[in-house]
Amino acid sequence: MRTPMVAGNWKMNKTVAEARELVSLMSKKLSEIPNVETVLCPPFLAIPALAEALEGSGIGLGAQNLHWEEKGAFTGEVAPNMLKEFCRYVIIGHSERRTYFGETDESVNRKLHAAIKAGLTPIVCVGETLEQYEAGSTSEVVRRQINAGLAGVDSASAAKLVVAYEPVWAIGTGKASSGENANFVHQKIIRPAVSDLFGPIGAEMIRILYGGSVTGSNAYDFFAYADIDGALVGGASLKPDEFVAITKAAVSS
Ligand code: PEP
Repeated sequence: MRTPMVAGNWKMNKTVAEARELVSLMSKKLSEIPNVETVLCPPFLAIPALAEALEGSGIGLGAQNLHWEEKGAFTGEVAPNMLKEFCRYVIIGHSERRTYFGETDESVNRKLHAAIKAGLTPIVCVGETLEQYEAGSTSEVVRRQINAGLAGVDSASAAKLVVAYEPVWAIGTGKASSGENANFVHQKIIRPAVSDLFGPIGAEMIRILYGGSVTGSNAYDFFAYADIDGALVGGASLKPDEFVAITKAAVSS
């Protein structure tokens, strides 16, 4: 039985003061929802403040990126052990990082190994672009991202991994995938791919989240499916009522 997870990716939104304010509007309601792992991923600067604000709430804290090196001359970057002081989770390979910042399957893999070494729980994002979707290449693209991105991870570490399937065409567009389509990708593409890498038991333990325009209104359409273990939420995670509704839906379906 996989515990559902709902993670909010705030992207480049909220100053430290605004982040505190947003958390104050939802943390109590979120912490009252049982049997779900709830995670907030604010911008780096707000992480220490939110670590304090969320203490004892049961709500997890995550970063949106990390560097693979432990320290050194990497101006502007943040190392895994710096995050580990405050965070339990880290998003790796978000499509916005792949599109705008040159993230590749190879850098995803290096970051994944560094996150695991630091004891962080990685949320690794995969997903096809609109062109790839229309060309019928979803399976090929997602398999390649899984094989290359997750290469070399041992089975014990793999069991703690979280994979987020985020079709690029659904992110921030208001055009969510259907539950049926997302579940197909989770069940027929991602789980078999991780099973090939880590064996069927490991594959059963890995949580696969759906991400892409999830809202309080459509969340049930996704969580009704057995292979959708939760959601990675962008825009709606900045709206307290929406994010609380999505988190409740993850438990009750
Ligand atoms: C995301 O940023 O990972 C995401 C899924 O965004 P949105 O929910 O806004 O589509």
